[in-house]
Amino acid sequence: MSIFSNDAFLQLYSDFVKYRKSRLFKRRSLPAIHARCSERVNGSEYITPEKHADVFPPTAPKQDSLALNATFKARIIMKPYTPTSTQPTLLFIPDISGFTQFVHNTEITHSQHIIEELLEVLIDANEIGLVVSEIEGDAILFYLEGKAPTAAELLAQVQRMYVKFHAHLKKYETHRICQCGACRMANQLALKFVVHYGDIAHKQVKQYSKLFGKDVIVAHRLMKNEVPHEEYVLLTHQLINACSSWVQIEQAAWAAPESGEGTYDFGSISYCSIPLDPLKNHVPEPTIEDYSLPGATTKLVAFETVIEAPIELVFDVLSDLSARHHWMLGVTGSDKLNSRIPQHGSTHRCIMNGDESDPFFISHNFETSSELITFTDTNLKDGLVFVYRLRRIGTAVTRAEHHIFMKLHFLKELLLKRGLKKKYQGFAEGSWHNMNRYCKELVEEDKQPPAQILLEPAAVA
Ligand SMILES: [Zn+2]
Repeated sequence: MSIFSNDAFLQLYSDFVKYRKSRLFKRRSLPAIHARCSERVNGSEYITPEKHADVFPPTAPKQDSLALNATFKARIIMKPYTPTSTQPTLLFIPDISGFTQFVHNTEITHSQHIIEELLEVLIDANEIGLVVSEIEGDAILFYLEGKAPTAAELLAQVQRMYVKFHAHLKKYETHRICQCGACRMANQLALKFVVHYGDIAHKQVKQYSKLFGKDVIVAHRLMKNEVPHEEYVLLTHQLINACSSWVQIEQAAWAAPESGEGTYDFGSISYCSIPLDPLKNHVPEPTIEDYSLPGATTKLVAFETVIEAPIELVFDVLSDLSARHHWMLGVTGSDKLNSRIPQHGSTHRCIMNGDESDPFFISHNFETSSELITFTDTNLKDGLVFVYRLRRIGTAVTRAEHHIFMKLHFLKELLLKRGLKKKYQGFAEGSWHNMNRYCKELVEEDKQPPAQILLEPAAVA
């Protein structure tokens, strides 16, 4: 009789169903099924030590699939997973709040993009070796096994995450193009932290460590509390009592800690909280960088065409840096994007050769109105500048201009200008031909490109 954890059961059962449907099963070659499943089971992390031979006996008699199915199920005993022994562990949960429920598609998508970016900012700001256990919606469950960090270390970590979080949001004010509710409201998002320390059991599932134990539940229950601030760090007394250095919390904190207590289904928990608002003074003001190519450039191409689609759609496609391969000649993809929603200073690399020779662009100088949109893509390394201009000439017709400039040295200009002009003229013609075809397809199929920008706030329903 084999004993498997629930995960092992599911894995085995899905393997079984898969192979049952396979050509092997149709030929009723049970030894073959057994051999295939053995490979999977032996390579699996889910299985408990006992052999799987009971489940797929090599000499199983012929039987129909239902009977085999029943046999399979009967031979497995579902057993609750018994976690490994507990370890003293710090639980550290930053939680983002403040978005309302959106109804417009762009706002729903952009709110998700903004949260994803912020979660990445928090993870990148980790300096004390916190490990991500899970992303839980708009929160991250971090943990750190062993001795708790000192009050000074932990509060410095909170401060670093908080400042990076709000610095990122401030850029939404200064660098934003999109006028959707999510992008406009982004700088009102708030951050709080719940930090607890207790005995936690770990279960390893592939590369992830799933945390178990009463203290994991305590930390999550504490997300709802009576702290009278919107942004704060809540530190349980269990954490404060765990380490002698925590008596210095008054010295390490930027504001006086406030005591609190909450009553939960498992009993009462005492904690202290520190408001985060005073840390706003540490958030730097974003600057609008100048990405223009310094010095004189030579105009190589002044291309103009008409696209049979509304200006909003053409701009959505044009500004979506991950969609360049849909229309730009020779481009097979994009990477090195620094923002999910196009804004002043968005970067991308056009993948053409798949190496360092591929052009890396910064998008900037956006000027948007309902009738006219301009912006520039600059490749500082190669001295290449694309200036785009879109003008509305009908409800579903847009005039597009693409001006290409290059920084040329005197000798290079003499020798290469003619060839370069021809090359980039062909590039613009081919690319904009593709753009027209791609936009027409989107219009005909009534599809929206994935990265939409609202140039004006969405009408309230
Ligand atoms: Zn937006």
